[in-house]
Amino acid sequence: MSKTLTIALSKGRIFKDTVPLLRAAGIEPLDDPETSRKLVLDTSRDDVKIVIIRATDVPTYVQYGAADLGVAGKDVLMEHGGEGLYEMIDLKIANCKLMVAGFSNRPLPDTNLKVATKFVNCARRYFASQGRQVDIIKLYGSMELAPLVGLADCIVDLVDTGNTLRANGLAPLEHMADISSRLVVNKAAMKLKHDSIQDLLTQIQSVVAQRNQQV
Ligand code: AMP
Repeated sequence: MSKTLTIALSKGRIFKDTVPLLRAAGIEPLDDPETSRKLVLDTSRDDVKIVIIRATDVPTYVQYGAADLGVAGKDVLMEHGGEGLYEMIDLKIANCKLMVAGFSNRPLPDTNLKVATKFVNCARRYFASQGRQVDIIKLYGSMELAPLVGLADCIVDLVDTGNTLRANGLAPLEHMADISSRLVVNKAAMKLKHDSIQDLLTQIQSVVAQRNQQV
């Protein structure tokens, strides 16, 4: 196994919020994925590379060791299942909630509840743990539309400000989980590259702790 550390990140919110944490650990990406089409970014450290992938693919890359570390939302990790990786640090970035949402004036049916979501595993586990019988309808986006057109009684989705729900006449109904981004590490890499990974974890952990003292 090469001694280079490969970190898997997704574009957008996670990249933007992770860069300051990496910078504090002396790692500066040499390209901006918003303007470059490169998928493998060099960094200010010869021994660290960043790969840019879809958020939902981050746990898979880390699980199979194609990346040693990665940053993924807790929602993505819960959906993936977490095999082959350690969830090491709650970075406390990209915070939001996983919620059941629907019409505030329409009680959810007790049986044959139709739930539209891209979080099929999370939704199945949540409703099963409550002994509620549901039909899960897998969607890939724009979940808010499903109750409006009668495809589903409710949705399971991420909620931050609640503006997207409100704009579509929906409301948060049930809190399922608090979500934030987590630093995950491949299990084998944690053994084989222990010293360099541990150094990085210690530096990132101290930045996260400092930040949280300030708020
Ligand atoms: P909001 O309107 O602020 O409640 O944001 C809800 C929309 O933004 C939903 O479509 C979510 O899928 C998305 N969203 C909010 N927070 C996050 C997050 N931390 N990570 C990924 N997507 C998010």
